[in-house]
Formats: sequence, structure tokens, C-alpha cells
Amino acid sequence: MTRPLAPDVVRGLTEIVGAANVITDPDRLLVYESDGLSAYRVSPRAVVLPGTSDEVAAVVTLLHLEGIEIVPRGAGTGLSGGALPTPDGVVVGTARMNRIIEIDPENRLARVQPGVINARLTEATQPYGLFYAPDPSSQSTCTLGGNVAENSGGPHCLKYGVTSRYVTGLTVVLAGGRIVKLGGAGRDSAGGLDLVGLFVGSEGCFGIATEIEVRLLPIAEGVRTLLGIFETMEAAGHAVTEIMGSGLLPAAVEIIDRATIEAVEASIFAAGYPTDAGAALVVEFDGTEAGLDLGADRAEKCCFEAGAREVRRATSEAERAALWKGRKKAFGAMGRIAPDLLVQDATVPRTKLPEVLARIAEIGERYDLKIANVFHAGDGNLHPNILFDRKNAEELDRVERASTEIMHLCVDAGGTITGEHGVGIDKRGYMSLVHNETELEMLRSVRAVFDPDRLFNRGKVLPDPLAET
Ligand SMILES: Cc1cc2nc3c(=O)[nH]c(=O)nc-3n(C[C@H](O)[C@H](O)[C@H](O)COP(=O)(O)OP(=O)(O)OC[C@H]3O[C@@H](n4cnc5c(N)ncnc54)[C@H](O)[C@@H]3O)c2cc1C
Repeated sequence: MTRPLAPDVVRGLTEIVGAANVITDPDRLLVYESDGLSAYRVSPRAVVLPGTSDEVAAVVTLLHLEGIEIVPRGAGTGLSGGALPTPDGVVVGTARMNRIIEIDPENRLARVQPGVINARLTEATQPYGLFYAPDPSSQSTCTLGGNVAENSGGPHCLKYGVTSRYVTGLTVVLAGGRIVKLGGAGRDSAGGLDLVGLFVGSEGCFGIATEIEVRLLPIAEGVRTLLGIFETMEAAGHAVTEIMGSGLLPAAVEIIDRATIEAVEASIFAAGYPTDAGAALVVEFDGTEAGLDLGADRAEKCCFEAGAREVRRATSEAERAALWKGRKKAFGAMGRIAPDLLVQDATVPRTKLPEVLARIAEIGERYDLKIANVFHAGDGNLHPNILFDRKNAEELDRVERASTEIMHLCVDAGGTITGEHGVGIDKRGYMSLVHNETELEMLRSVRAVFDPDRLFNRGKVLPDPLAET
């Protein structure tokens, strides 16, 4: 049972951000009680929505003085429970901080508030011939603040790299309400240690990013998009190995399995993928026009050599959008099959994909669970989506056991527990699979530099709950 905040704390918060931006009504708090990891739900004591860095600092100062835990929140699309409220905590949301402060085309930089939606930034920079490269599949909803905290990736990060490669400056509110500026003006460090690098991927455990400076890239001259259709996932996995092993550098290589194809084709997002196919592979090349066709031809050959029964190639922007549709709408389509979804995001070496995918299918059968796969194959970043209904406790137990087996399988195959969704609460228990006690102690020490009282996102990421309370 969540404890309500003391009236004087509510009053203090209201004085800082205005009554409309302090939510304590239990009905309105329902919206905030989980993120994309819907199996877990906790009602926060309150949600506060500041509008500026100074308001964030004042809110954090007050909560710190009261010893109240703080959960930063962007759009709540995270899949590892990072924005899940803590029972004693207050959620500080960035939804009102959604302004693009500056676009600097000459220096190819942009400065934004943390609540800016990822896709809005590229829309705003397009007229300058520029784009923001990290493109999570949730980009129409997720925020830059969430992307920074999770060091998010996306389909095109195979070629362009993840968020950490693009963040050059941050304004951060630390515990106690201290405001610090890290990096900036195109440099990730003003001299000394790379504190921007340290903050990116800190999963809301270090403080709240209130301003973000990012690098922009010139929009590529041309693009070629292919869709390979395969009888089996194994064959599609071999095609990925062939493509990547042949020296090509596609912008994206994404796999969609049969269960996902069936879900998409039965939904309003139907993309025209054949429903009897075992897997589909989206491969995209971008860059200067010269050489693009050659790359696409070679990738097509790799697909056929791996056993593709058909390879489609987009000849217009509309056709390209159609080929991508099945991939981009996959998560939405799965909502038709089951009320809840647990998305794992372990990574494995690319060469292990066929073997690991076969083992995941076997785990699904053994636990009598439907597992649909749609993932960033070029990076070896798996997303087995386990479909279930959280109201069925026995099924939820099977989901958790299957999920644990998948984690062990991926780590044993030489992979790791998260490619891009973060540890949050979901994978906190698996941290010791990939870190020894000394490494975990180092992580705790680094965190303590930013947040000595562990008020931000307490109980997340680090495995030892005793050390976190
Ligand atoms: C359909 C779907 C597809 C997805 N595809 C991808 C994908 O391709 N690649 C990928 O990487 N992820 C993907 N995700 C996961 C998710 O969208 C990303 O992790 C995203 O970066 C979260 O952003 P958010 O604004 O929703 O953050 P939230 O979920 O609100 O928060 C995420 C974490 O960031 C912290 N946080 C939020 N804002 C701040 C801030 N200003 N300062 C400090 N900490 C903060 C929170 O405390 C939490 O720990 C997907 C999710 C969905 C639902």
C-alpha cells in the first residue's frame, strides 16, 4: 500500500510547479504505475511535472530534504522497469520539458529538453538536411531523456551506433538539487574525465538530465531496402551471418519471425508479408548513391544462398515504408494476441543466432508459452517477446522461469543480458551472470559519486536489494 505524501510536502511541490503539475489523485496515478514492462505495477506517492531545470532542481532539493525516493520518467516506454515507481517514491516526469531549444546546422548540433520525443528531433532537423541517428522502434513516443538514460539503440544503430555516440553535453540535476553541466559545445568532455559518457546509460540512477546536446548527421543521399522471405528462422539467421561476414555494412538488418508475421498480418498494420513464411529479413543500405545498388545486389545474393525463397526490393519511398511496416508495427500488433508482453533483449554473437533461436523456440515449447521474435539481427540483439496474461499467476511464473533460461542461454553463448533496454528491475537479478563482486562494487561506488543517498531509482540496476535500501 502506497503511503500518501504529507500535506506540507504536496504544498511545497505545488509552490514550485503549480497545482496542475502535482498529481496525487489515485485515478490519475494509475497511468504512471508501470512502464513497458507491464507485469510490474506500483502506484507512486505522487507525480510531479516540472517545466524547467530550475524547477527540477527545486523539486529534487525538497524531496532530498524529506528523504523521499525519486523516479525520473520520460514517456514510460522502457521495457526493463526503469520508470517503475518505487513504493516510497515520487515520480518526476519530463513531459512538459519538450522544447527543442536550438538547432545549430553549421556545427551539426541540437540542444533539447529531455521530454522531446525522439522522432520530433529528426522532423525538426530535416529541413537543414540533418537527422538524429539513434532510432529506437519506439521513436514516435520515447523521449531523448529516456534514450540518454538507457543508452538506447534502434534498427539503424547497426551502422550509426547507439545514443552514447551522439550525446555531447548534458545539464543534470543531481541529488540535493545541485545542477551540473557536463561536456557541451560539441565536446563530450570539457577536459578531464568523460562524465557525459558515464551518465549516458545510467538508467535514472545518477540524477535527472534536464538539457541534452546531441550531434546530428547529414541525411544520406540514397537508400535501398530489401525484404528477404525465408522458410525458417535458421535460414534467415544464416543470411545475417553471410551478409555481415561478406564485408558489407548495412544501415539495418532486422528479423521478424512467423509468429510476429502472423500477428502483423492479422492486424490493421498488415504489411503484405506472406503468412506461411518462417521469417522475414529487412536489410537496408544508405549513403552516397554510388555503390548502393552493388551492396543491395550482394545482400540479395547472400539471402538466396542462405535459402531465401523470395527477395523484394523497394523502388519508391512508399514501397520502402511498406517493407518496414511489418517490423515497425510488430509490438503494436502483438497486443492483439495477448494482454501482456515481456520483451527480453539479450545479445549474442551474430554467428550464434541460428543455434540460440532454435533453443529459444524449444524453451517456449517446454514452458507452453508463445514466444515471438522480432529483433536487431545485425547486432545480434535478440528480442524474444514472451506473450502472456499477468492476471494468470501460474502463467506469469512460467514466463519468469522461461525468461531466466533464455538469459542463461544467451550469456553461455558468449552474449550479455541487455543490448539496449537496460537492466532496470527486470534484469537486476542477472547482473551477477556478467559481473563479478568487484565489478558490482565498482558500479555501486560510481553511483555513489552522483547520488550518495541512493534516492534516484533506488533498487534498480544493482542486484543486492540490501545494499539498495
Ligand atoms: C514498442 C517499443 C519498441 C522499442 N524499441 C526500442 C529500440 O529499438 N531500441 C531501444 O533501445 N529501446 C527500445 N524500446 C525501449 C524504450 O523505448 C527505450 O528504452 C526508451 O529510451 C525509453 O524512453 P522513455 O522516454 O519512454 O523513458 P522511460 O521509460 O520513461 O524511462 C526509461 C529510464 O530512463 C530514466 N529517465 C527517463 N528520463 C530521464 C531523464 N531525463 N534523466 C534521467 N533519467 C531519465 C527512467 O528513470 C528510466 O530508468 C522500445 C519500447 C517499446 C515499447
